Amino acid sequence: MSKKLQPEINIGVIGHVDHGKTSLTTKLTNTNTDKHSDEIKQGISIRLGYADTCFYKCKKCSGLQAYGVSKKCILCESDCEIIKKVSFVDAPGHETLMAVMLSGATLFNGAILVIAANEPCPQPRTQEHFSALKMHGIKNIVVAQNKIDLVTKEQAQENYKNIKKFLKDEGYEHVPVIPTSAHFDVNIDALVYALLETIDTPDYKTKEPLKMRVVRSFDVNKPGIDISKIKGGVLGGAILQGTLKKNQEVYLYPGIKKPIKLKVTSLSSGKDSFDEVRVGGLVAVGTDIDPVCMFGDRMAGQLICDEKSKPLVGSRMQIKYHKIERLLESNQKPLAISENVVLIIGTAANIGTITKIKGNEIDIVLKKEAVYYPKEKIAISRLINNRWRLSGYGEIK
Ligand code: GDP
Ligand code: ZN
Repeated sequence: MSKKLQPEINIGVIGHVDHGKTSLTTKLTNTNTDKHSDEIKQGISIRLGYADTCFYKCKKCSGLQAYGVSKKCILCESDCEIIKKVSFVDAPGHETLMAVMLSGATLFNGAILVIAANEPCPQPRTQEHFSALKMHGIKNIVVAQNKIDLVTKEQAQENYKNIKKFLKDEGYEHVPVIPTSAHFDVNIDALVYALLETIDTPDYKTKEPLKMRVVRSFDVNKPGIDISKIKGGVLGGAILQGTLKKNQEVYLYPGIKKPIKLKVTSLSSGKDSFDEVRVGGLVAVGTDIDPVCMFGDRMAGQLICDEKSKPLVGSRMQIKYHKIERLLESNQKPLAISENVVLIIGTAANIGTITKIKGNEIDIVLKKEAVYYPKEKIAISRLINNRWRLSGYGEIK
């Protein structure tokens, strides 16, 4: 039996629509052999796609080709050793799903920014997704310059220069750019190597109070199930701080009208179950809560914490607003009193109305209660030409 490993990190796969995020994720995760149930896969695909994989290295061989995502070495066919288990979070690149990407960015330890070699760089979502990473202070990024099979060598080199310039202008010249072709399996080994070099496993602050962001919630019971066999609702998400144990009593914030106390009945990641989980990849938490409350991602955006976590809950907040200058459509008018904005607070989307503006200090009344921490950064989108566009971020006071 193989050893049970919880994924150590979440790697976001981001970038403009059609640049090859899903194709690359498939190559990196050998999705054909993926063990997630179809139900989980389907549920997640409308929100954040996600899949776990292991990065391997051959013990006997050296060089880039010794790295990969399969157990057998492609050079000598001997068994490779696992270096790290990771979760990939495939963020939708379509503009209408920007909020989904932004809520996922809260969970990323690092990211692959996929940029197609056959289009000018940056495309609108390349810039917007990149700005979201920057806002969260995520520096551990690898660019996959994908679809190199569609361009000539000269075009690929020209495009590579443009990507490098884009990164330099953003102050990210350290970011490696790996030319890839998801279609022809080109440089997947180099991409794995770059990810290992670039994205470290964070320190596990296991002594800190628990903080887990929920991205999904579901009812796992089949219709017509015998009432004695009904299982409680399941919460899926990532632990940002602390650990979570089986049978532990924790709280769900903001809950429904008030925080909900719940007992952890099971913990799993992929097909493995655990007695304890910690900071890292996505985990599913079984609870003793009525599954009806969890149905259809109803609890997405909530926070799981213990008595020591002390989050704030409220429907008003004061923020310091920072406009993101580089966004393509950000030659915006100043924010106005009574303007509605979309806020992503942790993994939760909310709508707020601006009630007061004093310099860059802004008061907002939220449509529904939010759970947050002081100094937390939240993404702010404005309605520009009838579309919600990321315009900046706020730091909660
Ligand atoms: P996403 O929207 O970024 O997730 O992009 P997809 O992975 O869905 O890919 C969009 C389209 O580009 C699909 O038709 C893919 O088959 C194609 N595609 C993805 N990667 C490559 C590649 O490396 N080379 C070529 N020629 N096509 C690719
Ligand atoms: Zn080998």
